[in-house]
Amino acid sequence: QAKAAGRNGMSLFDAAMHARVSARATLEADLRLALNRGEFVLYYQPQLHVDGRVMGVEALVRWNHPLRGLVSPMEFIAVAEETNMILPLGAWVMEEACRLLARWASDPRTEMLEMAVNVSTAQFHRPDFVEQVLEALARTGARPDRLRLELTESLLLTDVEGTAKKMQRLREAGVSFSLDDFGTGYSSLSYLHRLPLDQLKIDRSFIREAFMEGHGAAIVRIIVALGKALKMSVLAEGVETAEQLSFIRSEGCGYYQGYLFSKPVPEAELASLF
Ligand code: C2E
Ligand code: MG
Ligand code: MG
Ligand code: MG
Repeated sequence: QAKAAGRNGMSLFDAAMHARVSARATLEADLRLALNRGEFVLYYQPQLHVDGRVMGVEALVRWNHPLRGLVSPMEFIAVAEETNMILPLGAWVMEEACRLLARWASDPRTEMLEMAVNVSTAQFHRPDFVEQVLEALARTGARPDRLRLELTESLLLTDVEGTAKKMQRLREAGVSFSLDDFGTGYSSLSYLHRLPLDQLKIDRSFIREAFMEGHGAAIVRIIVALGKALKMSVLAEGVETAEQLSFIRSEGCGYYQGYLFSKPVPEAELASLF
């Protein structure tokens, strides 16, 4: 078996693991270089009220690779998180998003728009996370009350007290919070009301399943009811069809984003969507 597998004594398992570890090390080095070379770009996906008004955008990072073209965050965020490259990358995203937010403030057509930024667990749990966000806002001149941070359930699981304190400090400055991909993680109803959250985002998988067999529709209904009970707004992700939009609207879901209105686009293409 394992022993017989490799002539040089290395088992197939070791070889596969070695390949994976070195692929990750390469990717980590590539990410660092990419950041230094300015190869990351932000795309923006509009978030709308179900009545059709654009309320803001979610910033979504892409890697503009010189050879591979635009690389999806699905291919590098996990490695960035494992290697702590998410810290400088996350800081760059925050700064870049705040810079656009500050530019919006000078135009009456965009001044009311909100910017949603995804925050990784490691980034949030840094002792100086609150200061980092406040400094990015101050440096760029962006309004804190137009910034919304998207957190995931896993981030909220550890140290609920400390997490609540950090969120509270940012909230006092005007920053608001959404719970991303809600329903896919280790949902614990006990933390939901102990944290200063403003919005629940229904994960795309439940919207997709709303018209399929299974419980998608029921889950959408339950999350909307939960949002109402906890006085949080509810946003549906991944709305691709008019049918899905009318369904979430009829269920009382207030907001949505998805390909139906627009995919994430570069900044230059945003103006035509507002
Ligand atoms: P997410 O935060 O849940 O972002 C929503 C994802 O759903 C985006 O994928 C978006 O392009 C996609 N999406 C939106 N509407 C539709 C739709 O109608 N149909 C389909 N099929 N997909 C839709 P994207 O941009 O590939 O990002 C994937 C994930 O990567 C994000 O999920 C987020 O977890 C992570 N991510 C992206 N940017 C950042 C970032 O700056 N920082 C961190 N920490 N994570 C990020
Ligand atoms: Mg998000
Ligand atoms: Mg999401
Ligand atoms: Mg998602």
